[in-house]
Amino acid sequence: MSALKTHLFPCLSDNYGVLVHDAEAGVTASIDAPDEAAVRQALEETGWSLTHILITHHHLDHVGGVAGLKVDGGITVVGPRSDASRIDSLDVEVGEGDTFRFGNHDVTVLETPGHTSGHIAYWIASAGLAFVGDTLFTMGCGRLFEGTPADMWASLSKIAALPPETQLFCGHEYTLSNARFAVTVDPDNAELAARLSEVESLRAADKPTVPTTVALERATNPFVRAGLPSVAAAVGMAGEAPEKVLAVVRARKDAF
Ligand SMILES: [Zn+2]
Repeated sequence: MSALKTHLFPCLSDNYGVLVHDAEAGVTASIDAPDEAAVRQALEETGWSLTHILITHHHLDHVGGVAGLKVDGGITVVGPRSDASRIDSLDVEVGEGDTFRFGNHDVTVLETPGHTSGHIAYWIASAGLAFVGDTLFTMGCGRLFEGTPADMWASLSKIAALPPETQLFCGHEYTLSNARFAVTVDPDNAELAARLSEVESLRAADKPTVPTTVALERATNPFVRAGLPSVAAAVGMAGEAPEKVLAVVRARKDAF
């Protein structure tokens, strides 16, 4: 089985687009389509031809480029079944546990509500890749627009249970703010402190902090770590359930 190649590119104000390419099978997916022009430019730079668009959720900065790209024809648009009524142009509707072929690889769909009710992530186990949209960010998580803290806790736990080496691609570059906040609710975490300095250097050099990995997020993401006694204690929630701790951490981040 051929390895998959990825191409990450910044677009709009702080979004990331990603192309995923299977050279042997000749297929290329755009994970979401934040901006038609930016996706087209990425395709030109790589020389890859678009065959799939995999949508994580309905927000305009993830689907705004779909209609324009689809005009070319021969493009299969995959997206969440539960959001089919508010996402135009879906060809294939998917939900929890569904799998579909992308070139020589199987893609598994994970439902990850919290940021939006219909949010999904795409996991390609054979390539060690997962595309998590606005559910998990490097050292952070999406705002709870349509879901509860319990929804987000379950979704993050699902992502954190993937193999530790899995590379996670998220939808935005929010890492510096996330890391600066994370040290306030996980103050004794040496790995987190080290990662904050690393992220400051990367961003000072205008380099991306995406992808991250499951192992790194388990070690440094305060939302993924909301079940740990140390994080609960740091926000005055010792002994409380993880989703309650997550609610407090999220509220503090919203005000950070
Ligand atoms: Zn969003």
